[in-house]
Amino acid sequence: MKQKIPYKIYLLEDEIPRQWYNVRADMKNKPAPLINPANGKPLTADDLAPIFCADLNKQELDNDTPYFDIPDEVLTFYKMYRPSPLVRAYFLEKALDTPAKIYYKFEGNNTSGSHKLNSAIAQAYYAKKQGLKGVTTETGAGQWGTALSMACAYFHLDCKVFMVKCSYEQKPFRREVMRTYGASVTPSPSLTTKVGQKILSEHPDTGGSLGCAISEAVETAVTHEGYRYVLGSVLNQVLLHQTVIGLETQKALQKYDIHPDIIIGCAGGGSNLGGLVSPFIGEMLRGEANYRVIAVEPASCPSFTRGKFAYDYCDTGMICPLAKMYTLGSQFIPSPSHAGGLRFHGMSPILSQLYHDGYIEARAVEQTSVFDAAEYFARVEGTLPAPESSHAIRVAIDEALRCKETGEAKTIVFGLTGTGYFDLTAYEQYNNHTMTDVIPSDATIAESLAKLPKVGNE
Ligand SMILES: *Cc1c(COP(=O)(O)O)cnc(C)c1O
Repeated sequence: MKQKIPYKIYLLEDEIPRQWYNVRADMKNKPAPLINPANGKPLTADDLAPIFCADLNKQELDNDTPYFDIPDEVLTFYKMYRPSPLVRAYFLEKALDTPAKIYYKFEGNNTSGSHKLNSAIAQAYYAKKQGLKGVTTETGAGQWGTALSMACAYFHLDCKVFMVKCSYEQKPFRREVMRTYGASVTPSPSLTTKVGQKILSEHPDTGGSLGCAISEAVETAVTHEGYRYVLGSVLNQVLLHQTVIGLETQKALQKYDIHPDIIIGCAGGGSNLGGLVSPFIGEMLRGEANYRVIAVEPASCPSFTRGKFAYDYCDTGMICPLAKMYTLGSQFIPSPSHAGGLRFHGMSPILSQLYHDGYIEARAVEQTSVFDAAEYFARVEGTLPAPESSHAIRVAIDEALRCKETGEAKTIVFGLTGTGYFDLTAYEQYNNHTMTDVIPSDATIAESLAKLPKVGNE
């Protein structure tokens, strides 16, 4: 035990960016526009106005402005918990006996426990600025709902959360955090909306899905005056807000003269990955640098690796706009794996375009091997990771082990998106050896993709 292990690196307040970065401005092939399913035409700010907040619609549709100022009120809130630590994983490196240098950006050090607060606070701010009464949303594993509840409490907004039913039952503690911050939480599908009633009549035993909860939240927003819908991932605006992660990382790495070779993030709807990698992909798009960027998704919900790049609905109820993205089909309901935050059938249109153009690689990993990595990481690095984040850990470890074989001292940076404190039911199953891997068959995926809408795809 003689060997000294250096202390972790913590960042300084001046490393919080003052602007978010819009990677679309540097993309030659812009992400395809959202399409209005009613008329098959690209959505305008007017079409979006009944659903989303006005300032957010501007951000959503802007493919050209490279930087957006972070409002002072949002910056002040960021200072409560940012910059988030960028940690050199010395203990992990040592345990793996790898020549690779491994860093992780930890977003789990706020009460909501994940990166989602970065966008929640921005979205709540714009809703307040517009004079709204409140917002509605869906939550899968509960991280987004928790983050939004915190943000709404801060700006005194009402918050109605539809929580995917299987998570509502598996994760009662998140529900209570949301209620503590003043939100109302309804398990989805529910009888409170028309779309929920329809889904329940067709699938009475369903554990729900993100797509289905989205439909319910949108319906509630458009039928309640003074309410708008907010979404915690997938949208361009969310990726924009999440670039605080990548901009802080970029600044810190520059400060210490560290040059990453491989950047890894887990991908559900793509917001943490997009936020982490956008500034680096911006360098690639401008021809200034080159990185390997790896998206890691669950084998149970493999949108990048087995999905199709096509226009599809963002929700199961098929009331939301159509987005061109890698999708498994809006009717695809993934098995109830423990990475609740990664159970979305589609993927961010920005990341989908970047993946299509070869700037991103993707890998699908199985749940049990993800938990092997999670447990290993918890024991050697001391931080209990969220199941979603552990997808990135799995591939970071795999890449570090490859370096051990080849003797290359690569620098690996990965996003550790959240803490696993609220996921102990999943750890319990892992510890009891009752966790299984459910991988959809080709036939299941083909069946779901056969139902892609005609609009946009002809
Ligand atoms: C929601 C969530 C994710 C996945 O969402 P993205 O939009 O793909 O980032 C990953 N990790 C954690 C901890 C989450 O809460």
